[in-house]
Amino acid sequence: IPSMSGRVPKAEPRPFERAAMLDALRTGTTEDPFDVLVIGGGITGVGVALDAAARGLRTALVERDDFASGTSSKSSKMVHGGLRYLQNGDVRLVYEALRERRRLMRNAPHLVEILPFMIPILTKDGVVSKKVAKALGSAMWMYDLTGGWRIGKLHRRVSAEEAAAHFPTTHLDKLSAGYLYFDAGADDARLALTVARTAAERGAVVVNRCPVVDVTVDPARNEATGVIVEADGERFSVAARCVVNAAGVWSDEIRALDETEHPDSIRPAKGVHITVPWDRIRIDIAVIIPVRADRRSLFLGPWGPRSDGTFEHVYVGTTDTDYDGPLDDPQCTADDIDYVLTALNQALDPAVTERITPDDITGVWAGLRPLVKQATPDSADSKTADLSRRHQVAVGEHGVVRVNGGKLTTYREMAEDTVDVVTELLGAPRRARRPATRRCKLLGADGATTAEPGTLEHHLAHRYGSMAGELRALIAFRPDLAEPLVAGQPYVRAEAVYAVRHEMATTLDDVLSRRTRAHLFDRPASLAAAPAVAALLADELGWSPDETQRQLDAYRRLCELEENAGAQRAHVTHTAD
Ligand code: FAD
Repeated sequence: IPSMSGRVPKAEPRPFERAAMLDALRTGTTEDPFDVLVIGGGITGVGVALDAAARGLRTALVERDDFASGTSSKSSKMVHGGLRYLQNGDVRLVYEALRERRRLMRNAPHLVEILPFMIPILTKDGVVSKKVAKALGSAMWMYDLTGGWRIGKLHRRVSAEEAAAHFPTTHLDKLSAGYLYFDAGADDARLALTVARTAAERGAVVVNRCPVVDVTVDPARNEATGVIVEADGERFSVAARCVVNAAGVWSDEIRALDETEHPDSIRPAKGVHITVPWDRIRIDIAVIIPVRADRRSLFLGPWGPRSDGTFEHVYVGTTDTDYDGPLDDPQCTADDIDYVLTALNQALDPAVTERITPDDITGVWAGLRPLVKQATPDSADSKTADLSRRHQVAVGEHGVVRVNGGKLTTYREMAEDTVDVVTELLGAPRRARRPATRRCKLLGADGATTAEPGTLEHHLAHRYGSMAGELRALIAFRPDLAEPLVAGQPYVRAEAVYAVRHEMATTLDDVLSRRTRAHLFDRPASLAAAPAVAALLADELGWSPDETQRQLDAYRRLCELEENAGAQRAHVTHTAD
């Protein structure tokens, strides 16, 4: 335990390399256990690992698949307070989330960007009446007062002309004004990866493709003593004085490994997004549109800035439906697509832009919110959209600490609350009980840039911060690495090489879906580029021709699965926000 001497020792940074990390993981023995072992490499788990390492605890994290391969790569990518949670009366959640938004913008300015939002106000014939507009105005003030002001910009009402300039494809004849307010956005998978790398920089052992298959318990003390993991076909024990379950929607599966009864504490709620080419919608800021069918709303977000102020894509989401299918592979079905396209087409003027059809969709993703089941008698009847997004930290019967619920935005606070419980259980000295991440800069945070959007410098700076120089060095050594990775996408080939060498990417899907987001935004282009990307990775990772083919086949199957699901009817009911 740290700071027996009164000081938190500074651990040596660890290279982010899987083989070395696996060796280090094996050093967690009964004689010399880790202080804390975290299960799950989504945003919650990596946040806990960083918090624990920053307090000087000897920390390890194991992820079953790839970092952020669960929900944390499938969010709406907003770092926000959540205007609609105010409507649900969850003022504390919004206050805390907006405080965390501010912290994250300070600690990771390269990854988190201010995202202006507009809510168009339509005239009487449209969906939002003037009365509603007035209510919206009050909600805007409440949002600002709850903490929206922390971003340095207050909401304002804009004229019909200004609203039309931001959303020229909507029904301009019905547009009477708009409300402009400010939140923030981030590439969720990159944020999670950067937190994981920062944890390693603080000395944490962090490994992907290393599932926990069991939790070990000392029956004499009735306490968990660590876990059994499986990596590269081999099982071994890792001893830890405290185990943290941060497995998101899989949390109950982990609990079932050591608890007497199979728990049922998570209520997964599915949310989907679709991507369409930017030219069909032409927004220059995020826009909220109504869903007439059930009085919900959807979000349209521009993605991939070009140098002329336009964008590559617009993504549209999200839904919020109860989900009881397989946790490992939620899919965006034809019903989900219908629901989103119906609302989208109602918001667009057919005289200005052609109706958007399933054939226009270039990418989809579906994620599961790990909502905490509520114990109130009528909670089973409540809509998932009404369940609180607050997190919960609890201790299981053998001392395994679990953290559930929450949001991408509040991951740091969730981690702090979790490690507070861990240090309490460990009886750690007072210094290790103090918060350590409120001002903890994430890796690359000191790499501010003034480069123009749409340039390679801007692109690299907003993904790697001060580490962008490492990619430029790769390109200087091999100029072919400056070529695009996927046609029409901003990523360059150097990013795939870097992902393998420094970001623990081990598969084609890691590179196309999470280290870059090419797959989410343009599946056909990613599929077309897959053989060339696989060849590049094969050189780096020493894949045989058979292994290269296996990787290509696996990626093709993933694409087919998404395409087939998009043609399937599941008859879901969408809940109202
Ligand atoms: P996950 O990311 O799912 O991580 C759990 C990890 O545990 C997984 O990687 C999994 O592989 C691993 N695991 C499972 N079993 C094992 C095992 N046996 N051994 C080792 N590892 C294991 N929040 C926001 O703040 N802003 C948003 O805009 C936003 N939009 C959202 C939109 C949608 C559609 C959804 C679904 C959620 C959204 N959220 C948003 C919420 C946010 O994305 C989630 O709260 C967050 O990503 C959950 O992270 P997690 O780490 O708890 O779970």
